[in-house]
Amino acid sequence: MIYLKRGSAPEFWTRERVKTWTGRWLVKREKGGDWSWPQVDKQPLNQHARLNMAEWQYGKCAFCETLIGSGAEVEHFRSKAHYPLAAFVWRNLFLACHDCNHAKGEADHAGCIKPDRENPADYLWVNPISFKIEPKYGISDKARQRAIKTIKTYNLNRAELKGLYKATNMPHLVDFFVQVQHSKSSPCQTIEEELAILQAKAELEQPFSLFTRSYLLYRGVIKR
Ligand SMILES: [Zn+2]
Repeated sequence: MIYLKRGSAPEFWTRERVKTWTGRWLVKREKGGDWSWPQVDKQPLNQHARLNMAEWQYGKCAFCETLIGSGAEVEHFRSKAHYPLAAFVWRNLFLACHDCNHAKGEADHAGCIKPDRENPADYLWVNPISFKIEPKYGISDKARQRAIKTIKTYNLNRAELKGLYKATNMPHLVDFFVQVQHSKSSPCQTIEEELAILQAKAELEQPFSLFTRSYLLYRGVIKR
């Protein structure tokens, strides 16, 4: 999970239209109807939202950082069932993978870290030994509770994710530190270059950058 600088809504996503869509949803909901996205230009609204969000979310799930393509879903941070007035509010929507979106379901958002409002890296890190996302060491009790709530709500310690951290990011990290070890006995000029590559892999647009950053933090390569 990383900080996301929210991009503007598509131009057609006007206040007037949000009012209309919300009004229709309230009527439908009242009659017990199921949720569906309205259409704009013959495409469902979530389709438009996905394209827009993929840009400022680096094509990743807002919660687990998995790269997502056509399977991306639009997640309501405040649930549309409990907060119907927020169903079309742009700042309430994130792009999420199926697993995170379904783990959350209609659960209460209260206390969850909202990645476009605060930096998840201030609350969370990935333990490089257990590969589990945990509250960051030394944070306040309140921050810790929020970290735990977020991890639970989006099921961020599911087994697939641990496997993906290992498969996607660990080989580079292990290679690098093996080289560092070697360079101590026979100095190697490429270490600086390798380090630059490794730091680039910890940039926000990379998959599982929270994991990479946590690992580099643990090894003392970066400070925060
Ligand atoms: Zn996800």
